[in-house]
Amino acid sequence: MDSITSNVQVIKERIAEAALKSGRKPEDVLLVGVTKTIDIPRIEALIGAGVRDLGENKPQELCSKHAALGSEIGWHLIGHLQTNKVKTVIGKAKLIHSVDSLRLAEEIDKRAAALGSKAEILLEINIAGEDSKHGIAPEDAITFAQSLQHLTSIKVKGLMCIAPYVEEQENNRKYFAKLRQLFLDIGEKSFHNIEMTDLSMGMTGDYQVAVEEGATMVRVGTGIFGPRL
Ligand SMILES: *Cc1c(COP(=O)(O)O)cnc(C)c1O
Repeated sequence: MDSITSNVQVIKERIAEAALKSGRKPEDVLLVGVTKTIDIPRIEALIGAGVRDLGENKPQELCSKHAALGSEIGWHLIGHLQTNKVKTVIGKAKLIHSVDSLRLAEEIDKRAAALGSKAEILLEINIAGEDSKHGIAPEDAITFAQSLQHLTSIKVKGLMCIAPYVEEQENNRKYFAKLRQLFLDIGEKSFHNIEMTDLSMGMTGDYQVAVEEGATMVRVGTGIFGPRL
C-alpha cells in the first residue's frame, strides 16, 4: 500500500473513533483532502484511495485541477476569496467555505444567478479573534447571516473556521465548541436561504478534537501528503 492510501486509512479510523465518541456515525463526517500545491499524480493516488472531495485555497489552482481531473470530484474552495476572483470558481466549486463579507456574498449571488444556479457557501468565522485571520467576528455572525437572506442564488449551508495553530489539539477544543454553539444558534433562527447543516472545522493538527466537538467536514492536507514544500 502506498503512503497516501495508508495515511487516509489512519485518518478515516481516527475520524470514525471521534464521530462515535460524539454519538454520530463515521459516515456523517466528510474528509476533504487538501490538495493545494500537490501535483496531479499524487492527487490521483488520493482519489484512488477513495477521497473524492478535494480542497484548494486558490481559485486559479482549483480551476486548473478541475480541468485536469474532471467534475466527478467535489471541489471545495477553502482559502480567502477576493471578489474579482468569484467568476473563476462559480460553477466549479461545490462549496465555498470562506465567505466573510456581504460584498463577497453579493458577488457570488450575482454570478450564480447569471448561470441560473445556486451557489452553496459557508460563512468563515474568526473564532479566536486572531488578527492574522480572515472571517467574521463571532459576535457579528448572527447579524451577518441575517443580512444574506435576500440573496436568492446562494444557499448558506453552515460555518467554517481555521483554529489557531497549536501543538496540543486539546487547546482548540473551546474554539470548536464555540463554533458549534454559533452554528446551533444561527440554525434556530430559521433565516431564509440559511440552513445549518455543515460545520467545517479541523485540520491535520486538530481534526480529532474538531470531530468530537461536532465537525461534519474536516480539511486535511499534511496528514495525507506530508509537509508541503
Ligand atoms: C492548508 C489548509 C488546510 C489543511 O492544512 P493541513 O494542516 O495541511 O492539514 C485546511 N484548511 C485551510 C483553509 C487551509 O488553507
